[in-house]
Amino acid sequence: MPVERLLPSQEAHDLIALTRDVADKVLRPKVDAHEKSETFPDGVFPALGRAGLLSLPYPEEFGGGGQPYEVYLQVLEELAARWAAVAVATSVHSLSCFALATHGTTEQQAKWLPDMLSGNTIGAYSLSEPQAGSDAAALTCKATAVDGGFRINGSKAWITNGGRADFYTLFARTSDDGPRGISCFLVDSATEGLSFGKPEEKMGLRAVPTTSAHYDDAFVDAERLIGQTGQGLPIAFSALDSGRLGIAAVAVGLAQGALDDAVAYAKERKAFGKRIIDHQGLGFLVADMAAAVDSARATYLDAARRRDAGLPYSRQASVAKLIATDAAMKVTTDAVQVFGGYGYTQDFPVERYMREAKITQIFEGTNQIQRLVIARSLAG
Ligand SMILES: Cc1cc2nc3c(=O)[nH]c(=O)nc-3n(C[C@H](O)[C@H](O)[C@H](O)COP(=O)(O)OP(=O)(O)OC[C@H]3O[C@@H](n4cnc5c(N)ncnc54)[C@H](O)[C@@H]3O)c2cc1C
Repeated sequence: MPVERLLPSQEAHDLIALTRDVADKVLRPKVDAHEKSETFPDGVFPALGRAGLLSLPYPEEFGGGGQPYEVYLQVLEELAARWAAVAVATSVHSLSCFALATHGTTEQQAKWLPDMLSGNTIGAYSLSEPQAGSDAAALTCKATAVDGGFRINGSKAWITNGGRADFYTLFARTSDDGPRGISCFLVDSATEGLSFGKPEEKMGLRAVPTTSAHYDDAFVDAERLIGQTGQGLPIAFSALDSGRLGIAAVAVGLAQGALDDAVAYAKERKAFGKRIIDHQGLGFLVADMAAAVDSARATYLDAARRRDAGLPYSRQASVAKLIATDAAMKVTTDAVQVFGGYGYTQDFPVERYMREAKITQIFEGTNQIQRLVIARSLAG
């Protein structure tokens, strides 16, 4: 049964209806084949771009949808319920537009944002390195100032959309000044000296590649520096506050998909002469799943509404990411339980939901790091 959503406008209701239509017609028929063959779904992102779903939270003047964050996140949730890999790639694309949209000059924005927001160009966000994940300030990929721009040398890791994206929001070190020595660049995929590793063999999200990137004396023009030199880490972290909410919404979508499938199955499957949902032990399990999904949704909506109102929301974003992704892990695991032995096979999507849920507890700040953010904010 579709989720009944409280939305701020009729336009938002129309957007959710459009998203469900695209998700059912474009995503659902392709998900199983692409996840199995680990192949990128070529036509999907252009279709999302044409529907205006790749740019929802960004300003209309650059071709964005001008929607409140609470609406954008619920769109992501709907996508994730059909295909988490596509929802994650959409969220990462949005994350990769953040630096330019918030810290670019008017000239930089006019030059690149319209193509990024229309989905003509797809983005990736490149912060992590092989030895610097949670501890992002330890990154070592180097950008050396030269005549007219920067020479980049070093390796980045774990890039969602890696090798497929048209631009990379790259964070690299411009000085040895610790966290203040990092800068942000918008790198074109065709840059000479930039190459990609082979896609990681992952537990889930298999249709969208995750790769390393290697910079070998790659020249990046000075006009591609976003913000000031040394400002990279604050830009990266404020992008992640927004991105974490995207991951929370993806997690809720996954959990909702698993819950819907579990309820439908529990109403069909019989044991000991009655529907399994009518056995209290199983009925209560499903009730707990529903409570977890609803409460997880409430946490990300609370954070999004604070963001939309211009209030600080960093702590609430970490709470949402923590609560929603832990809920997704539990709910998807319990959905497998509801299906019994069949849940452990690839005949039903619940095993995929469970594999997909695990990564939401890890990327865009592990849940240990979310607790760190929350504790620090409480400690002042
Ligand atoms: C599929 C996938 C897609 C990804 N996509 C992107 C992307 O698009 N762009 C990008 O930049 N990165 C991406 N990442 C990287 C991801 O954000 C990192 O993997 C994550 O931040 C954790 O870093 P790490 O793997 O180096 O683990 P580590 O930082 O080495 O952590 C290992 C363990 O130690 C724990 N830990 C570390 N520090 C602390 C601490 N202070 N207190 C308590 N526990 C701690 C962690 O929680 C974790 O459990 C992706 C990763 C994956 C797997």
